[in-house]
Amino acid sequence: MSRRLPRKDVVIVGFGWTGAIMANELTDEGLEVIAFERGPWRDAPTDFPPGYMQDELRYRIRHELFLRPDQLTFTFRNKMDQTALPIRSWGAFMPPNGVGGGGVHWNAEMWRFLPSDFVLKTHLTERYGAAFLPPDMTIQDWGVTYDELEPHYDRFEYLCGTSGTAGNLSGKIMDGGNPFEGPRSRPYPTPAQAQPFSHTLFGKAARELGYKPFPQPSGNLSQAYTNPLGMRLGPCTYCGFCEWFGCGNYSKASPQTTILPHLIRKSNFSLRDNSEVVRINVDLILLDITADGCDLRHAGNRIELIANKPILDRA
Ligand SMILES: Cc1cc2nc3c(=O)[nH]c(=O)nc-3n(C[C@H](O)[C@H](O)[C@H](O)COP(=O)(O)OP(=O)(O)OC[C@H]3O[C@@H](n4cnc5c(N)ncnc54)[C@H](O)[C@@H]3O)c2cc1C
Ligand code: SF4
Repeated sequence: MSRRLPRKDVVIVGFGWTGAIMANELTDEGLEVIAFERGPWRDAPTDFPPGYMQDELRYRIRHELFLRPDQLTFTFRNKMDQTALPIRSWGAFMPPNGVGGGGVHWNAEMWRFLPSDFVLKTHLTERYGAAFLPPDMTIQDWGVTYDELEPHYDRFEYLCGTSGTAGNLSGKIMDGGNPFEGPRSRPYPTPAQAQPFSHTLFGKAARELGYKPFPQPSGNLSQAYTNPLGMRLGPCTYCGFCEWFGCGNYSKASPQTTILPHLIRKSNFSLRDNSEVVRINVDLILLDITADGCDLRHAGNRIELIANKPILDRA
């Protein structure tokens, strides 16, 4: 049986980094926001308590944090003349499932794209000549530049407390950082993580050969940090269980550690976990009835989301 839920200004489907950031921004604007997440609720201290040994069988082998292929999967084929078949076990492609999305089990390597990545077609043509790119190659410039995105990179890095050594501060090349990166408007919020013996030795050898090694920027924090939303993160203990695992230590930046405790206190935000959006109906009759907003019908843990056109346009 379906149940009609109260009307909202914005519906967010999926609650990973993107959903969490959008929800925080839109609720700040005063909008009523609801997020639907197909997977379960997850919180840092209760789901990944640091007092427990990390469970490798559960997370590494049985893929607890990922979508179960028997729940939902994708079809795949190697060649056009093959019949696409359902993927039954994940390889390198690991779709997430649950509050926090991929931000729970990521490594938190915090790279920015290079300025040339945003203008790849122009860059390659200028560098190698107009004949370099074959006519059927679809490479394009992005239409947005590194300089336009820099304030957003900066904001995300400060949200996460990113640890690193700047290589290019407002155009000035800095010793110890990545000399090839685009100009950043300020240093990383926290210093780079301490380098283990192997990395230190490798860095020394590389420097002696004239290369410019630098520590990888990370959302695994080198020291305690309070982010602009007031969330407090702790220094990484180098436990080694980052990728495919959650961090209960509040040391790895994730939606749970950097946004959710702040967002969940807002009265204009709500989240429904274990709720998969299975269909979005654009109901043109509804368009006449409601100038904005949307109606939701909720049956068990399956959602039929009936949104009018303006909402979809704004999403
Ligand atoms: C193992 C791994 C390691 C990674 N490490 C790094 C790294 O170190 N650095 C880096 O920059 N990137 C890394 N990435 C990539 C990065 O984690 C993702 O690009 C990022 O988290 C994507 O965030 P998102 O919010 O856009 O999407 P997602 O995290 O995919 O969130 C989408 C959410 O929507 C939910 N959902 C989907 N469909 C529905 C539906 N119909 N109804 C309801 N909910 C739905 C999903 O369950 C999910 O929670 C890694 C990815 C993986 C898999
Ligand atoms: S303590 Fe450090 S290494 Fe361990 S999961 Fe957290 S961020 Fe990753």
